[in-house]
Amino acid sequence: MALSLPYADPRQLAGKTILMRVDFNLPMQDGQVRDDTRMRVALPGIKELLAERVRLVLLSHLGRPKGQKHADLSLAPVAEHLAGLLGQKVHFAPDVLADGLADAVSGLGGGEVMLAENLRFWPQEEANDDGFARHLAGLADAYINDAFSAAHRAHASIDGLARLLPAYGGPTLRAEITALQTALDTPQRPVVAVVGGAKISSKLAVLDFLTDKVDCLILGGGMANTFLAAGGVDMQASLMEPDLFETARDILTKADARGCHILLPEDGLAATSFGANVPHRAVANAALAENEMVLDIGPASIKAAAAQIQKAATLLWNGPLGAFEYPPFDTATVALARIAAEQTGKGALVSIAGGGDTVAALNHAGVADQLSYMSLAGGAFLEWLEGRELPGIAVLAEPGRG
Ligand code: AMP
Repeated sequence: MALSLPYADPRQLAGKTILMRVDFNLPMQDGQVRDDTRMRVALPGIKELLAERVRLVLLSHLGRPKGQKHADLSLAPVAEHLAGLLGQKVHFAPDVLADGLADAVSGLGGGEVMLAENLRFWPQEEANDDGFARHLAGLADAYINDAFSAAHRAHASIDGLARLLPAYGGPTLRAEITALQTALDTPQRPVVAVVGGAKISSKLAVLDFLTDKVDCLILGGGMANTFLAAGGVDMQASLMEPDLFETARDILTKADARGCHILLPEDGLAATSFGANVPHRAVANAALAENEMVLDIGPASIKAAAAQIQKAATLLWNGPLGAFEYPPFDTATVALARIAAEQTGKGALVSIAGGGDTVAALNHAGVADQLSYMSLAGGAFLEWLEGRELPGIAVLAEPGRG
């Protein structure tokens, strides 16, 4: 799917009032922002608009308040945090349906910014309510979506607003789409994917899509156990999903027919209990003892996977290869992430990673900023890897937007 999204040069928007959907769904702790990575990523785009004396109204959600006001899911502390990063006042709109909101927005000076309260406090947001979207659209001259990570939701601030105002893709959303298209639509070959994580069940559609797109699929993590056991290897006490053995076999058959080479681990780091630094050994999967479970892929498997990554021109990575939170079961994830970073640094590899625990795992490996692109989106990244159309992107790509 080659997309061309309407883009607004900030200079075109000079002096206008803009609604921008951002993703400030940040990890919070005791009423404070615990991790502001997503905000920092959005900062250059915000600053560019403010430099053009735009009156900027930022819209976001935080958590899942399900249409109710929850003090602990208020964006008020997030507004303060943003003020600290921007070095300027951030106005806060606690009630997006308040009569006075239009006056407050028109009272903003050029180059001033406002953050609206958590939109999911109002059930109309998730219901994509037309009246709600019209009320918000009435505040501004144009709309920018810079929240790729929320683009898989057809909510009022994602879909409705894009239909009512001149609508553009923001810089981080566009960067994300460019990265994903580079990896999946027009990749340099060979394309290798690494898919790990606990279970197959949450990634069936991803596996199906990837076997159609990539030349080699390296499987690790708990999900590899299910594939191995489905092929007759006794994985003993390892995490598995026996009800998906049949499905796992189907995926392997399909991959074969599609010319996708699946690389399953041949050995593992095994232990009899789950935890950091518990007694463990490297062992061929077929030689596991009755009470042992595989918690990481083993040295021979790392070597085989490394050889594939070294040959690859494009790499997609989703999910850790082992229980990386508990050393030494982070060994494979760290080793292969470093090879990916090295190859990327040499200019030999385009590497794109994202989804769920992947960011945490690659941060742990210390290479997150050495890959070509690290997606901070969870669900939206996975839906893209399933080949699904994201409503927030589709609406921007419709002819006549912008
Ligand atoms: P996911 O959210 O599906 O990407 O799964 C990530 C989780 O899978 C992490 O918390 C890992 O600890 C866990 N995990 C990865 N490999 C294994 C394994 N071999 N056995 C048990 N858990 C694992």
